[in-house]
Parts: sequence; C-alpha cells; structure tokens
Amino acid sequence: MGLLALGTPLEWRDAKKAADQVRQWGIEQLLAIWRRAKGKERDVLRWGDEIEYLVVAYEYQQRKVKLSLRQADILDALAKDVALQKQGGCVPELQNIAREGEPLPTFHPEFGRFMLEATPGKPWGIGFKDLLDVEPNMKWRRTIAKEHMEPNEYPITLTTFPRLGTRDDFITPYYPPSGDRLRSQFLPDEIANPHIRFPTLAANIRARRGRKVAINVPIFQDEHTAMPFQDPTVDYDLHKWPEDDDVRNGAAKEDHIYMDAMAFGMGSCCLQITFQAKNIIEGRKLYDQLSPLGPILLALTAATPIYKGFLADTDVRWNQISRAVDDRTPEELGEKPLHNDRWRLPKSRYASNSTYISQDPRLRKEYMDPELVVDEGIKQRLMDEGMDDLLATHFAHLFIRDPIVIFGEDLKELDLSKTDHFENLQSTNWQHMRFKPPPPDNSIGWRVEFRPMEIQITDFENAAFSVFIVLVTRAILSFDLNFYIPIPRTTENMETAHARDAVLNEKFYFRNDPLPPRPAKASANGHASGNTTPAAQPSRPATPTGPVEDEYSLMTIDEIINGQSSPSENSTKPFPGLVPLVESYLNSMNVDVQTRCDLARYLDLIRKRANGRYWTAAKWIRHFVRGHGEYQGDSVVSERTTYDLCMAVEEMTRCEGRSGEGVGWEMFMENKGMTRKRKGESACG
Ligand code: ADP
Ligand code: MG
Ligand code: MG
Ligand code: MG
Ligand code: MG
Ligand code: MG
Repeated sequence: MGLLALGTPLEWRDAKKAADQVRQWGIEQLLAIWRRAKGKERDVLRWGDEIEYLVVAYEYQQRKVKLSLRQADILDALAKDVALQKQGGCVPELQNIAREGEPLPTFHPEFGRFMLEATPGKPWGIGFKDLLDVEPNMKWRRTIAKEHMEPNEYPITLTTFPRLGTRDDFITPYYPPSGDRLRSQFLPDEIANPHIRFPTLAANIRARRGRKVAINVPIFQDEHTAMPFQDPTVDYDLHKWPEDDDVRNGAAKEDHIYMDAMAFGMGSCCLQITFQAKNIIEGRKLYDQLSPLGPILLALTAATPIYKGFLADTDVRWNQISRAVDDRTPEELGEKPLHNDRWRLPKSRYASNSTYISQDPRLRKEYMDPELVVDEGIKQRLMDEGMDDLLATHFAHLFIRDPIVIFGEDLKELDLSKTDHFENLQSTNWQHMRFKPPPPDNSIGWRVEFRPMEIQITDFENAAFSVFIVLVTRAILSFDLNFYIPIPRTTENMETAHARDAVLNEKFYFRNDPLPPRPAKASANGHASGNTTPAAQPSRPATPTGPVEDEYSLMTIDEIINGQSSPSENSTKPFPGLVPLVESYLNSMNVDVQTRCDLARYLDLIRKRANGRYWTAAKWIRHFVRGHGEYQGDSVVSERTTYDLCMAVEEMTRCEGRSGEGVGWEMFMENKGMTRKRKGESACG
C-alpha cells in the first residue's frame, strides 16, 4: 500500500486545504524523477509477484473459524527472524525449511489487520529457471508465515473472509462495532491495520464523500432465497453517528448484500505482478498491451462468491473494492449540479485504467477514453517541462484526485530527492495497471504492474497465473503483439467479468488480429501454416486505417485463451489464442525439454480454466456451500460452512504441496470436485 511514513495525519478538513500543495509538489517530484530517469536504458528484465493472505484462527472444539487480528505480532516475529537470518544467525523455526541460495521472502502489512502480504526476497530474473522457482518459493512463503503463527492460525488465500461483517464474533480478539474512523455498523475500527495511515485513509474517504462508502452486491437467488431480498443484517435504527442515517436514506439496496466500510473491499486478497522494462519505451508499451488483458484475467481467476455470510450473484472482488474506496462527492457522481467540485468523475479512484501511454504508431486516437478527465493545469506544467502529451495526460489524469492522507510534517519543505507527494497520489489511484517510475536512486528501472487478478486457493495456481502473465509479456515484446482496443471496451469488459461464471458464459471485446502485418516474403517461404512461427517475422508497426469497430469482436474466454476455430464475422483470421502465442514464443526460444514440460503444467491449467474443464475457485466455493449439510437453499453461508470451507481450502494448499509425490494436479482437482466431471469428496494423501 505504498509508503508508510510516520507523522501527524490531517483530518479531512485540513487535508482538503493542503490538496493543491501536495499535488503541485507531487508533480515537481515526478518531473525530477522523469528528468533523471527518462533516458535510463538497459535495465534487465526483472519481475516479482505479491501474494496476499487472510490469517484465520480455528476454534476446533466449537468448529468455528475467525479472522485473527494478530498481523502486527506475526510481522514482528517474521521481521526478527529475517533479520537474524541475514546476519547469519540460526533461526530454529527456519532451520529445516531454509532454501539454499534464496533470500528469505519479505512480508508486508496490508489494510486489513487480518492480512499479510509476501513477496520473494529478491525479484525474479529473465531465466526460465526462475519461472520454475516461483511455485516452490510461494509454498515456502506460506510455510514460513505459518511457522510464525499460533498452532491454530493459518494463512489462507481466499480473496475474502466469507463471514466478515456478520453479527457474530467473526474476529479474534473480539471488538464490537463501531468506531469513529469507519463508523461502520458491521465492523469495528480495529479491523484495520492500526498504523495511522490506514484508519485515516478510511476516515478521510468517508469524510470527503460526505457519507459512508456503500457497497451493494447482488444476492444470489437460490431456491429458498426470500425475494425481494432485504439484507437482514442491516440495522435501520442506529443513532450513534450521523452516518447511521445512510441506510435510512437508501444506501442499502433491495436484492443486494449491503456493506458500509473500506475494509469490506480493501480487506480482499489479490495476486499482483510487477515487471521491470528495459527502458521507458518498453514500459509504456507493456502498460498498454497488458491493459486489455485485465478483465480476461479477472474472469479467469474469479474467486469471490461470498460476502458477509451470503452467496453473491457475482464471482469477483473488483467492483466491491472500487466502491469501498470511492471518495467521490455527490457533485462528482453527478447527483448534484457542480458547485464546489471541479468535475464529474465517471470512475472511482479504484477502477480499470483509463489511459494508453505508449508512443506507438498503432495507437489510434479512437482508442482513447472520451470520458477521460484530466487536470489541464497539471498537464500543461508537465508538457512545459518537455513531457510528451500521452504521458502528461496519464499523470494529469491520476492527479485529478485529492490526496487522502497528508502528514502535517511533510508540508514544510519540498524535497525533490523524495517521492512522498507523488506517491501519495500514485499509490491511491488503484487502477488495474500501474506505471511505476524508478525510485530516486535509479537502481530500479521503469516498471509496470498488472493488478486485476484474484488470489488463488493454491500456490500451484498462483504460480501458474504469474508465470503465464510473464510469458505473455515476453510474447508481446518478442512478436510485437497488438492487443489495442478502445479503452471503453475494456471498461465494459471489466463489468462483464463480474457475472457468475463469466469465464464460461460471457463474451469479451478483444482484438481480432494481434500479429503484425506479415511481410509478403514470409508467407511465400513456408510460414503460412497458421500462427506457429510469428517469431520469424520482423515487426512492422503500421498505422492502421478503417473503422475501429472492425478491429475487434466479442469472444469467449476460451477463444481468447485457446484460439478461435474460425474468424469472427468482421475478421479474416481466427484469433490465435494467448496460450498458443505463448507456445510459439517458447518454440522460438529453444527451451529445454524438461523446462518445457514443467511450464506446460501451468499453461495446461490456464487452458483448462478457460475451456471449463477446471472450475474457478468461485464456482467451486459456491458449489461447496450449496452442497453443505447446513445449507438451506437461502443464500446464507453459515458459520459451520465457513469453518468447513476454510479447512477444505487449507487442506488443499497442503495436499497440492505433495503433488510432486504422486497426487497429480488434475487428479487432485477432480477429487476436490473442481472439474467438470464431479466425483465424491475425498481427502488427500
Ligand atoms: P507494491 O505493493 O507497491 O506494488 P511491492 O514492493 O509490494 O510493491 O512488490 C512489488 C513486486 O515487485 C515484488 O514482487 C518485488 O519482488 C518486485 N520487484 C522489486 N524490485 C523489482 C524490480 N526492479 N523490477 C521488477 N520487480 C521488482
Ligand atoms: Mg501493496
Ligand atoms: Mg507497496
Ligand atoms: Mg506490495
Ligand atoms: Mg498488497
Ligand atoms: Mg502491488
């Protein structure tokens, strides 16, 4: 979550007054970075993943599971051992699980006090061998995290805790709602990381907005779900905070699960991948080309079918986080005429991204977002200093937002060797792609972060999706692939990805032909057999003409991942498929047989997730709940079901740890009922 500076945070009233100063100083810091780093060259490919965990605590006797709020203790214990190990000391817990030559992973705090984040101890390099180190490293991280927990505590990788915000005691230690910062009727302030930044973020978002955030998720209508559905956990008679009026003013929508605090969104776990590009040009290209893949990977990784003890009619977390940090005022939302605020804002500060930034002749102006809001003054300032229109537009768009958490101490003097004011805006624009400039010391290059994916239950899956995205970036660069579609189509795709089983039932806008135009010579000398050897072709980016609408069509995820058997109506060539493109890339790289086999396991998961053979976690969790003995067909996810679900997913992470010893992944998935052909429940090992 960006920088964790210490100091005195301003309440919203005062923060609002300092907003312009922070923006201006942030832009000056950005210009300083840009001047220093715009010509930075020959950075090597590096990349790194981030895994987020929920920490759950079992009460075995009562068959209950709760969220553990011991994040700080666990992180302290981890940090001590990591430091000890670095000094060559012997850490008893880590002695048996140390991995030679691999630095210990790094653990980070997150918004939820029940969350942990873990990254590899050093970023991964370009080698194919590194791709194979990811999964063992992820498993290792989980083991190390577990070693620093109580015997009844476990790190699990569900995106959300199924019963967060119910009326029962779902956290340990227990705190009752509600507190001054969140003013939630469901959650105590203690649910958030106590570091002053986090409660201030929540309080100031609420204050800026003028009411609590409102998250309404459509209820899954099952056989006995009483429709119209009124969320029975909502209390309309509270009078502790002015915000208790929200529900009386219609904040809770009929047929929806209603939530009212930042933690319901920012308490979700995801899987993020950051890439370092060789220079700013390559970084800008990756940013653009990965952007249209965002909604596709969101739907493929769908893992979020439950909120606040109810089955939802959606499968992913995205919109809920978006609403959980939506600080827009009624004027910005278009509910009132503009009077105090500067503009209408079509999107939350957590949303799919709205800019393309690559100076690529293939980028047509028709692809840009016609609803894009930019701060023209800031854009002008950036351009006056020599930044080009596209990049200036990108940052001038991020800087339409107010800084939310401002520390009084930081307003005394502008320090151009720091990036705190720039990061203040940058790190609270939670878009599905993030363009990360090099830090001041320039040791790190221009980076691009891919942020839409949901965390997966097992590290096999987390590794598979990480490796897949890395290979896609290699294919993009090596074949000069073109995935451009108009930004509003990506925005629509993001909505589409929310539908239940979107991965199987929905269609997404995608570019028909990602390959550069084929030189006449190449087709004459045997490269005509489909798309197996695009590597052989020199890239020739051409400025396209013709109607933009003819460049893309609606495709299923199966077609996007595995390829079309026949072309879309408005196209002459079938879309080759992302996995076949990755395989062409691997073919062109002469990867050794063993590595190729190992990587094939990951590609196989992606392929079969897309064609429906393997279920998404969302589908499996929904199935698990509906098949549970306590389920009444009324969309309610009981405490006991939650306990059994957490036990099952935790068991899954342990079982798949042994997959190399004979429990094949596919067999394992089948045993768990996670494939199309369902078999009975069976334990592993
Ligand atoms: P944030 O939370 O701001 O996105 P983190 O520091 O938590 O960033 O994680 C970013 C990821 O980037 C980690 O996996 C880390 O290993 C990786 N990383 C670190 N340095 C580089 C680099 N130079 N290039 C690419 N990735 C890097
Ligand atoms: Mg983070
Ligand atoms: Mg961070
Ligand atoms: Mg991080
Ligand atoms: Mg994180
Ligand atoms: Mg990140």
